[in-house]
Amino acid sequence: MSRRSRRNPVWEVRASTLARNTRNLIREIIENLDVQPNPDKQLIALSVGDPTTFGNLNPPDQVLQAVRESIEWHTSRGYGPAKGHIEARQAVAEYSAHQGHVTAEDVVLCSGCSHAIELAVSVLADSGQNVLVPRPGFMIYKTLAEGLGIDIKYYNLLSDQQWRVDLDDLENQIDDDTAAIIVINPSNPCGSVYSREHLQDILEVASRNRLPIIADEIYEHFVFSDHEFISMSALSKDVPILTCSGLTKRFLVPGWRMGWIVIHDRNNIFGKEVRKGLNNLATRILGPSTLIQRALPTILKNTPQSFFDEVVLFIENQAKLAYKELVLAPGLRPIMPQGAMYMMIEIKTNKFPEFKNELQFVERLMSEQSVFCLPGQCFEFPNYMRIVLTVPEEILREACRRIIIFCQEHVVSREKILEIDENVVVSSEAEIIRKKSLTTVT
Ligand SMILES: *Cc1c(COP(=O)(O)O)cnc(C)c1O
Repeated sequence: MSRRSRRNPVWEVRASTLARNTRNLIREIIENLDVQPNPDKQLIALSVGDPTTFGNLNPPDQVLQAVRESIEWHTSRGYGPAKGHIEARQAVAEYSAHQGHVTAEDVVLCSGCSHAIELAVSVLADSGQNVLVPRPGFMIYKTLAEGLGIDIKYYNLLSDQQWRVDLDDLENQIDDDTAAIIVINPSNPCGSVYSREHLQDILEVASRNRLPIIADEIYEHFVFSDHEFISMSALSKDVPILTCSGLTKRFLVPGWRMGWIVIHDRNNIFGKEVRKGLNNLATRILGPSTLIQRALPTILKNTPQSFFDEVVLFIENQAKLAYKELVLAPGLRPIMPQGAMYMMIEIKTNKFPEFKNELQFVERLMSEQSVFCLPGQCFEFPNYMRIVLTVPEEILREACRRIIIFCQEHVVSREKILEIDENVVVSSEAEIIRKKSLTTVT
């Protein structure tokens, strides 16, 4: 006779709580949009934050050559230490000298910056605690934290003050369960770059409330002329900081999945525990790609400054082009970025009464003009849309042209708004009485 199981007789396999609670806001919003391009017009996607999509931006040969050479080394095929080979961590430490005093011991290599963010959030916060995230802001924080049962609380950025942090709002969000403040500078999606004074203001809030900061600086050095990039950690006197960065954006290689955390802890507030915690968490994936690790010292040392300058200049010119064009689009308010690779554009939804919200605006922009922009709701910021600036110049120009036509076709002009206002007046009680009396007279 065969044995009987004591388990539930129905064979049911459920997804875990982590899996069920892990949601990607951008994916969800886009999946629910009705985004069919106009078949008569070539699709222009200004939505994907991947500078390699159009093939117009490529890493310099020194970077490619470093990986070609790495493939020949047998150490680039084996496992490395979970937090990375010492040579690679040493190279990141030197590359990060602008952040303050950094040694190889302060560096943890990760599988891309998003993995760095995941380690940073999960080493500092427990389920039931919360982390403070900018709004509008990059939504991977929500995806990572909520799966782990960590709450997200938003603090506002001020759209008419170059996306400065609303410091009062930031401080008001802090409670006993707050585990860390996340600062994204330069910002995705805003393209803002914070001044020394403003970073100091943020540090003061953190210091006063005895909170660590997670500084997402994946766009470090990615700033336009007349702006300066200053690393948060370079200014901190006491606030412990985990700075997250990587190769992805600056070296134009998102698919290589190489990122890192740099630990800044001048006053030994993280102590041994957080460092050890990061080591522990790093072992969950047995370390990032050793093929790229082996190439890292050469990549970080040999990439010519001229390459970075050219890429940033290209994006700055794209930003100027898009801004100059889109200020002419009736009903839109583009906000000139200071760095990174995006521009936020306000959609004055009261000027487009046929659309319920900005989601419908981007849907129709797609179905009529085949231009796709990310709706602000993807960043918890309705009434805006984000465009990427890394597309080739001619494509950006064409996209702007189509956006302007679309706005001209759908905007309610000043005259029309006045007309609507008059209708409202006509339907008011006094007016109805007046009209009635007029009819009686005639
Ligand atoms: C792109 C991006 C990341 C993620 O980078 P990966 O290295 O591809 O994981 C993290 N933070 C911000 C703000 C980004 O824009």
